Amino acid sequence: MPAASVSSAGHAGADRPELGAIRESMLIDGKPVREGQGEPVAVYDPATGQVIAHQPDAGPVQIDLAVQAARRAFDSGPWRGMLPAGRERLLLKLADLVEQHGNELARLETLNSGKLLGVAQGLEVESGAQWLRYMAGWATKITGDTLSLSIPFPPGVRYSAQTLPQPVGVVGAIIPWNFPLLMAIWKIAPALAAGCTVVLKPAEETPLTALRLAELVLEAGFPPGVVNVVTGRGETAGAALVAHPGVDKIAFTGSTEVGKLIGRAAMDGMKRVSLELGGKSPVIVLDDCDVDRAVQGAAAAIFFNQGQVCTAGSRLYVQKGLYAKVVQGLADLAAGMTLGSGFDPATQVGPLVSARHQKRVMDYIGIGRAEGGRVLAGGGAGEGAGYFVQPTVFTGLRPDARIVREEIFGPVVVAQPFDSLDDAVLLANDSAFGLGASLWSNDLARVQGLIPRIDAGTIWVNTHNMLDPNMPFGGFKQSGIGREHGRAVLDLYLEKKSVCMAY
Ligand code: NAP
Ligand code: MG
Repeated sequence: MPAASVSSAGHAGADRPELGAIRESMLIDGKPVREGQGEPVAVYDPATGQVIAHQPDAGPVQIDLAVQAARRAFDSGPWRGMLPAGRERLLLKLADLVEQHGNELARLETLNSGKLLGVAQGLEVESGAQWLRYMAGWATKITGDTLSLSIPFPPGVRYSAQTLPQPVGVVGAIIPWNFPLLMAIWKIAPALAAGCTVVLKPAEETPLTALRLAELVLEAGFPPGVVNVVTGRGETAGAALVAHPGVDKIAFTGSTEVGKLIGRAAMDGMKRVSLELGGKSPVIVLDDCDVDRAVQGAAAAIFFNQGQVCTAGSRLYVQKGLYAKVVQGLADLAAGMTLGSGFDPATQVGPLVSARHQKRVMDYIGIGRAEGGRVLAGGGAGEGAGYFVQPTVFTGLRPDARIVREEIFGPVVVAQPFDSLDDAVLLANDSAFGLGASLWSNDLARVQGLIPRIDAGTIWVNTHNMLDPNMPFGGFKQSGIGREHGRAVLDLYLEKKSVCMAY
């Protein structure tokens, strides 16, 4: 298999990445496919700006190959007839393999995405394995209902009925670059538990761990064609996948803008579609909170993974009495954070994923300044060739400012004070998005009063960004359609058939 060598230059003083060969191919029907339609897509190390691989740019021809492979695996292969316990066993085996190759996967992820190695290890590999095991358990627990019917004719005839859940079919999964391995697992684990087959398109910036995962899928014993990974650009490879008539369902995670395009295109073919989209999640600090905890929490909510988190706490609302203290505390923390390579254990803030994204975030910082915002901390790009942006705290912006309303997806938070809890609700809900929100308070009655009033798919109390495979996750408003995780995610990958029998 072709391989590119990996240089560790630019990670000076850091743990040298020890990586195996990077495969510069897609994985279709269990086989590497190197040919794309045009120029290969360069893949970068965001900490240094160096090219680390070239991936095929899949076009309609390659997408068709992958969908046909998934179609065959679903319609006629051994996968179709496998008992639920067989699917469970394979998913458990895959979880073991992910753990066994955890070091390699985490290093590959840090190299490709820039994220801190500890985050890649803990959140992508370890919790990825946890997600696989959790979904493995569901494979054997999918149930339908027995229904009593009241059809009165013909006289003397009785009816019994049941619902029979069945896999929806071939899933086209399209994912972003912020948690490349975990997002791939979030898509394939429930799809496989339900008995579907998958064509996965990772983000063009970060295809490497998804491709390695697909190899582990084969090694675990899943039949060829059950999971296929195609690489390439969204506008071509992604769009061809969404348009392909052989795909039964689209599972998308990414921006609201692209999600709307995909939703419309999927509807043309009446494909099932689930959308996990963007956010502008509020962090609401009440004046009875534990201040240190709230300051630390607000910092983690926005700066974790360089703010490249769909539920990043990018709007900070603090009750007036505590506002100055909390915002100054957050600015001090931001100003003291160490930027660097994700391989360096001293690093607290890694690079953003790409030069393009760095520019986008820096443009937003410029817009915030032009809108009259005051920069309390950060505001600049980091030094060197890597795609760094300093953790940035803004104050003094009106609620209608663009950087208060639009998703930046970087380490930039906008702080605003509020008076009453009613004001906090108005500010928090004054957004097109509704993905997450956190409340920081020690007053149970105030917290319980606020929870039902905030428009968000997940509300955290005295914590932020905590996810669990057993906790449904998804968006209100323009943050998406559908819920991943928990029992709820199975509904996205199952059709419900009603069976009515006369006797
Ligand atoms: P994006 O630009 O929407 O891209 C997401 C994926 O869609 C990528 O694989 C992309 O391919 C592909 N794509 C782009 N245009 C397409 C098209 N016309 N047809 C089909 N596919 C297309 O998002 P991103 O910049 O990668 O990720 C950041 C966004 O993801 C943020 O908005 C964030 O909030 C959201 N997100 C949401 C969640 C959640 O669970 N709600 C989780 C993580 C991230 P390319 O890579 O080639 O562009
Ligand atoms: Mg993109």
